[in-house]
Amino acid sequence: MTTPLGPTDSSRIPRFAGPATFARLPRLDQVEKADIVVAGVPFDAGVSYRPGARFAPAHVRESSRLLRPYHPGLDVSPFEVAQVADAGDIAVNPFDIRDALDTIEEAARELTADGTRLLTVGGDHTITLPLLRAAKAQHGEIALLHFDAHLDTWDTYFGADYTHGTPFRRAFEEGILDTEALCHLGTRGPLYGKKDLEDDRRFGFGIVTAADVYHQGVVEVIDRVRQRIGDRPLYISIDIDVLDPAHAPGTGTPEAGGMTSRELLEILRGLDGLNLIGADVVEVSPPYDHAEITGIAASHVAYDLVSLLAKRHVAMTQG
Ligand code: MN
Ligand code: MN
Repeated sequence: MTTPLGPTDSSRIPRFAGPATFARLPRLDQVEKADIVVAGVPFDAGVSYRPGARFAPAHVRESSRLLRPYHPGLDVSPFEVAQVADAGDIAVNPFDIRDALDTIEEAARELTADGTRLLTVGGDHTITLPLLRAAKAQHGEIALLHFDAHLDTWDTYFGADYTHGTPFRRAFEEGILDTEALCHLGTRGPLYGKKDLEDDRRFGFGIVTAADVYHQGVVEVIDRVRQRIGDRPLYISIDIDVLDPAHAPGTGTPEAGGMTSRELLEILRGLDGLNLIGADVVEVSPPYDHAEITGIAASHVAYDLVSLLAKRHVAMTQG
């Protein structure tokens, strides 16, 4: 294996200068082959409340300038053990949601065709459906960990099937998900009615609420989740509104009483060793962010996901 091309050296070019890629990594066109790519999807035509997530990819990249190359919590230098690159943004139609979904699926299939793993920075949560479609085509039925204040298994809004509140019901209907291995984490806040939970259970989802994280603690939550997922191909979708608005104010549909960023990052670190095949971080809305609080949280979450993918890459190529 050739030595991976790493981030721009911060001892030569200061962090506030240099490339605007994720973690100042090389662009995909600057490397021979990438093991892991980070791609942006600037799309927010599926939101039901505050817009702005179309500006998230650039914002999260900007907030990722301070990321350093060694992850002590996972004991890995992700950019050394794998070639990680920034694939830029997927240019999607802002006026036609179905066309946008097709473009995202096609791009995800292309980027992952030779086994490259994809981490996507949204965009609103609508974009996860085509990303799951592409993952299903490659891996079969997918286990899903869905971090979110909301269920996102609603049916329609104003008669529309494809919105940021409906991707996981559509994914269930399309037979994408492994219904033995689905879990929401961090849900809270009021629902339309009890039926929301009954429908959700029918689709196969388990739920670890934000209150469960508080009462049971991170260690027990990790244990519950690992048992449910086993060694199935796992996709992790993180709606940044899983964090309390104190930790992520810049988002589209904030709910009080969420996880801290410390709890979220510790749960992610507890997933080390699972068969992670892809992930996304969605629903960052920069116009509602302050002092990059949400951008920094999202960039650290993305860094943890890249680190998990890098460790998995090592395990797969050496074992
Ligand atoms: Mn949400
Ligand atoms: Mn969501």
